[in-house]
Amino acid sequence: MTTIGHLGEFGLIDKVKAFCPTFDGVVHSIGDDTAVLSFDRSYYQLLTTDMMVEDVHFTKAMDPALVGHKALACNISDIAAMGGLPTVAVISIGLPKHLHVTWIEKFYQGLGRLAKQFKVSVVGGDTVRSKAIVINIALLGLVEKKNLVTRSGAKSSDVIFVSGALGGSFKSGRHLNFIPCVNQARFLVNFAKPSAMMDISDGLAGDLNHLLRASKVGCKLDEALIPKHQGVSLAEAMTDGEDYQLLFTMSGSKARKLESWQMKNRKWFFYRIGQCVADKRQLIKLKGFTHF
Ligand code: ADP
Ligand code: MG
Repeated sequence: MTTIGHLGEFGLIDKVKAFCPTFDGVVHSIGDDTAVLSFDRSYYQLLTTDMMVEDVHFTKAMDPALVGHKALACNISDIAAMGGLPTVAVISIGLPKHLHVTWIEKFYQGLGRLAKQFKVSVVGGDTVRSKAIVINIALLGLVEKKNLVTRSGAKSSDVIFVSGALGGSFKSGRHLNFIPCVNQARFLVNFAKPSAMMDISDGLAGDLNHLLRASKVGCKLDEALIPKHQGVSLAEAMTDGEDYQLLFTMSGSKARKLESWQMKNRKWFFYRIGQCVADKRQLIKLKGFTHF
């Protein structure tokens, strides 16, 4: 008998897709960082959700304010990956009866601070009892139609970039306090719009393969160019999850424009790590994080 473990996280998502109906107003459904919905003449609405479970994504030993920060930051990161700005969130929580009230107060403090920073209104949610702490946030965002970037637009010979150093996020605690790359993504869509983009949540290797498959191209990576955090091996930089940097592609001429901008301005640094190629079989051999 096939189990969820055999199928894997992405095999499972593929399977459930067939049971998920869509109607008018859905521009892009399952398969990107957020769903893309009709909104008005100039904008699309973006919708994403992420769940965190005690002892899988965090432990009670961690600062609850940081857990609250992370719960919202993961969702904001998905909105940024589409080129958009986050707008409105609802927060659902499952809590054990004996949990200290201070835990949840601190959780909401951390979450609220980040919500203020990115002008996200928190307008509701749901509260239930559960054995372990479970947190689910659903977040809306908006993106100008011309600025929408999906995972599927990379062309062969496009240059591949990442927005920062990778690896060791869990060990170092960075997975709890990262700031989602909204400003970088907004800069990119306005200055040199990427052909494809996503955030790196499950590790570069796995996530790049998702982008390549969605875009029907392969890639050649220059491993020496992959930016790594101090003390992190190449394999860790390729496969550790939870970096939440942006992974994106753009034409050679846009890439040169971006690189000459960053040489002068030094505000952000985007790292060229390889190139897309026409041969779809050229995927990354390493596997990123999956839940099963
Ligand atoms: P991300 O890491 O960017 O949050 P995921 O890897 O979690 O994205 O999900 C990939 C795609 O699969 C997304 O479009 C997401 O909405 C969809 N998805 C994930 N889980 C489910 C599910 N249980 N039912 C339907 N769609 C799902
Ligand atoms: Mg994502």
